[in-house]
Amino acid sequence: APPETPAHKTKVIAVVNQKGGVGKTTTAVNLAAGLAVAGHATLLIDCDPQANTTGGLGFRRQKDAEEQRLSIYDILLGPTTLMEAIQPTPIDNLKLIPGSKNLIGANIELVEAERREYRLRDAIALLNNDFRFIVLDCPPALDLLTLNALVAAEGLLVPLQAEYYALEGVSELISTLDKVAQAFNPELALEGVLLTMYDDRTNLSQQVAANLKEFFGDKLLKTTIPRNVRLAEAPSHGLPVELYDPRSRGAEAYRDLTKEILERNNIALSN
Ligand code: ADP
Ligand code: MG
Repeated sequence: APPETPAHKTKVIAVVNQKGGVGKTTTAVNLAAGLAVAGHATLLIDCDPQANTTGGLGFRRQKDAEEQRLSIYDILLGPTTLMEAIQPTPIDNLKLIPGSKNLIGANIELVEAERREYRLRDAIALLNNDFRFIVLDCPPALDLLTLNALVAAEGLLVPLQAEYYALEGVSELISTLDKVAQAFNPELALEGVLLTMYDDRTNLSQQVAANLKEFFGDKLLKTTIPRNVRLAEAPSHGLPVELYDPRSRGAEAYRDLTKEILERNNIALSN
């Protein structure tokens, strides 16, 4: 008999911006959590040597703790499969592939590796669409780790902080997207641009939003993420904001984002 075809192909979303501090990790964790809470099996992969996603889900970051668990490093540079490295999270439907500090070296070690741009894509292909979503949290650089994420992804989600210089670096990011799509991954597309740390009471935020709307059109997501202290506190409790304080404005905003992403992909809100 032919192999059973999975009900759905995995949607891989990379959260990318080469700037640090724009809300990539906050968005990756809380979107992935939202998708999982909505009933979709979701895998979150921490591709950043800073491993803030991993720490934010309650995993210890001391060297000895990191050395005891497999991370995305072992998958990119070793024989390890994603299945072997999967860790549970406080949400049933959400699994994590941890990041680790040795990813700093991965950028150099990957240069010599076979299919160096495809390592993550190849690893994800072995999962046979067991997950409905895979969310990739990227480092703040357009390096080989981010390139692996761009080659593995179908959609790019770009958080932009609502500040005067929000658009700085965006043209470089978009041209990287185009180059990667041409050279490695024709399926790659911009999923959406997300305004983070948005304060709708200030002229600056409104001005930035208007500029981005002009630049990105429909790709600018309707959801904006407000500056909310609960979002900054949740990681130190090892929790997505939905579990830490579901009634906060931050939790509400990430529920809206989840809904918008599902709608844009024509996927039912609850599974
Ligand atoms: P990146 O991954 O792009 O470097 P982070 O998601 O780690 O950015 O966010 C940078 C810092 O800002 C973190 O301390 C985070 O907790 C905080 N932060 C992110 N988004 C918000 C928000 N909407 N409101 C308040 N603090 C936020
Ligand atoms: Mg980060």
